[in-house]
Amino acid sequence: MTAGPPNPRPVALVTGGGTGIGRAIAAGLAEDGFDLAIASRSAEHLQAGAEELRRHGAKVLAVPTDVRLPDQVDRLIESVRSEFGRLDVLVNNAAGNFIVPAEKMSPNGWRAVVGIVLDGTFFCSRAAFPLLRGGSHPSIVNIIAAYAWMAGPGTAHSAAAKAGVLALTRSLAVEWARYGIRVNAVAPGPVRTEGTDHQLWISDAIVEAVRRGVPLGRFGTPEEIADSVRFLVSSRASYITGQVLAVDGGQWLGKGVLDLLDASGLVDAPPK
Ligand code: NAP
Repeated sequence: MTAGPPNPRPVALVTGGGTGIGRAIAAGLAEDGFDLAIASRSAEHLQAGAEELRRHGAKVLAVPTDVRLPDQVDRLIESVRSEFGRLDVLVNNAAGNFIVPAEKMSPNGWRAVVGIVLDGTFFCSRAAFPLLRGGSHPSIVNIIAAYAWMAGPGTAHSAAAKAGVLALTRSLAVEWARYGIRVNAVAPGPVRTEGTDHQLWISDAIVEAVRRGVPLGRFGTPEEIADSVRFLVSSRASYITGQVLAVDGGQWLGKGVLDLLDASGLVDAPPK
């Protein structure tokens, strides 16, 4: 069968696009005129995400996929090709995470997180390359976290995997620049989502300690992360590749001794 003409609107694929930050990214891209493919394991997550995206006026393809499995990823990209005939943006957002001391981490727990985050990002990028290459101003955005270059105590598997994705981001940015494909990363700070409320922000004490460590004094929103992705895939970012944008209220910079200085009265008290 001969393929029809490519989709008239640009197309973005967001992994993990049915929930949390991925859903906000997909919705933001829909507002910017993209049609969407979303992929994750749960049909329920995908259905809820797809319904919201259609309300934004986007054509939506939802494909149940485990990004750890290259055959499923290849089938996902084939579905995108047959539905839309093009792909312009790939957002590697799918992830899994849980808190565990490194010495108690099972090989399966390690493999699960590294498989989703690092293998999944590579499998999706590799499979999407031929379609992206023919896209309009194509780009990839990988969602990482600041512990890719800092330390992730309690989440060593995720930190190691995100560090791998950061190296992959820079490597692909250089390799695929000749094809006009830009590759960047966004490192969100703490954002409350259904997923992370179960996996990371599991007590009020943790939430408060994390909040206090953010110079802007609050958690971010999924929409604030989505805005940075919308910028990076837009023509306003046409000369940016291989970069990581931390969208974290200043969290990774740390507050140094600022709280102690506040308490000492040596600096002006923070405004109430
Ligand atoms: P989330 O809602 O739990 O999102 C994770 C998504 O990944 C879900 O949609 C999940 O869908 C999908 N997923 C998990 N395993 C998968 C697999 N094997 N194959 C395909 N999809 C899979 O969490 P979030 O907070 O929105 O996180 C989104 C991204 O932001 C992640 O990359 C995360 O590391 C990053 N991030 C988040 C924070 C934060 O504070 N929230 C901070 C820094 C970085 P299914 O269950 O349907 O598979």
